[in-house]
Amino acid sequence: MINIPKGTKDVLPSQAYKWQFIEDCARKTARQFNINEVRTPVFEHTELFARGVGDTTDIVNKEMYTFLDKGGRSVTLKPEGTAGVARMFIENGLASSPLPMKSYYITPCYRYERPQAGRLREFHQFGVEIYGSPAPSADVEAIFAASAFLQKLGISAQLRLNSIGCPACRAGYNAALKEYFRPRLGEMCATCRERFEKNPLRMLDCKEEGCKAITAGAPKILDYLCPDCAAHFQKVKELLAASGIEYVVDPNIVRGLDYYTRTVFEFVSDSIGAQGTVCAGGRYDGLIAGLGGPSTPAVGFAAGLERLLLLMENTGVQFPAAPVPDIYVAGMDKASRTRALSLVAALRRQDISAECDLMERSVKAQLKYADKLGARYVAVIGENELAEGAVNLKKMSDGSSVKLPFGEICNYLKKGEQNNG
Ligand code: ATP
Ligand code: MG
Repeated sequence: MINIPKGTKDVLPSQAYKWQFIEDCARKTARQFNINEVRTPVFEHTELFARGVGDTTDIVNKEMYTFLDKGGRSVTLKPEGTAGVARMFIENGLASSPLPMKSYYITPCYRYERPQAGRLREFHQFGVEIYGSPAPSADVEAIFAASAFLQKLGISAQLRLNSIGCPACRAGYNAALKEYFRPRLGEMCATCRERFEKNPLRMLDCKEEGCKAITAGAPKILDYLCPDCAAHFQKVKELLAASGIEYVVDPNIVRGLDYYTRTVFEFVSDSIGAQGTVCAGGRYDGLIAGLGGPSTPAVGFAAGLERLLLLMENTGVQFPAAPVPDIYVAGMDKASRTRALSLVAALRRQDISAECDLMERSVKAQLKYADKLGARYVAVIGENELAEGAVNLKKMSDGSSVKLPFGEICNYLKKGEQNNG
């Protein structure tokens, strides 16, 4: 027996409708916001993520699925969706397309993490990227899209908002952080000590309990914002209020990627345990230039689909019912089985979901199977039905039935569909 790799999951046939619902909500949200889909490769040159995600991040330091391909190139399975879209933007000269460019993706991501509830090695993200606008309205557009998506799913999560400023205000803040952390470094983890040198802001993202206790007392970035960043943050808050989106300011949010500037945000739920962040994003004005592209402001978010699914299941959110066949046509003997097959073929050509026996089962067993499928109507064809050219259509929800010539079944089912809404 070969087992599934650790940290990955199958989607079983009985569960796929939940995934389809979540993805449908993502696509519908995108349509409402006029955001176009983009697709980028699952693997990229390793350097893209090293530069695009940042080499002081957990992702790049510890979590990437990196390997040499048979040509000796270092490639990496995408740990997140943004870097690939940024590369696409640069490589295809999309800076000269109408801006802002609003794109979305639904993609698997790969991170070598310690698997636990809501934390996998292969997981999926719905992400949105808005390129070209430095304006606070673009930050709010991204947040609004995330919020509309969660609302469609029937999820309520708290929006936590922060600003981490620009490189200019970050310099003063980093100095203040270093001054605060220097005498406490001995009590902090190895990763924090390393980040102290390279990027002290990232120390605030440490998940070790001991470090968290120390960072709680650290200076707050909001006290160090330059006038432009402070004004930007103020405007984002105003526009959120004007859009009726509730938020709390949380000065401890710094996000896991190095290229974030100014606005950062997370949607958090307390219903799925420690991994409560279902959606996270912010502004990354330095990313595209950092990858060698034309200086282009950017803002976006990514939502973790497994965590959303978990949250929906834990809080009893109703999924729309799984799809069922419109009709199951059973056949008694050889000739009527053939008729059942041809009837099913005709119905399917008319876009009706129809089923018949593929197992050469008895009529009784066919009906049992039809019941398990949840077929809305069942028809049984035998010698009499063949002779008459008509069959009883039984409606499974109330047991009522109606006799119809074979040729009228399709219209009847279509009308029924309208009546049932
Ligand atoms: P965390 O702090 O939980 O590790 P992160 O900062 O690494 O999250 P992002 O890179 O911002 O997460 O990814 C966006 C979203 O993707 C997260 O908010 C989460 O919902 C989801 N996500 C991230 N890593 C995983 C994972 N290993 N398994 C499942 N979902 C994940
Ligand atoms: Mg992480």
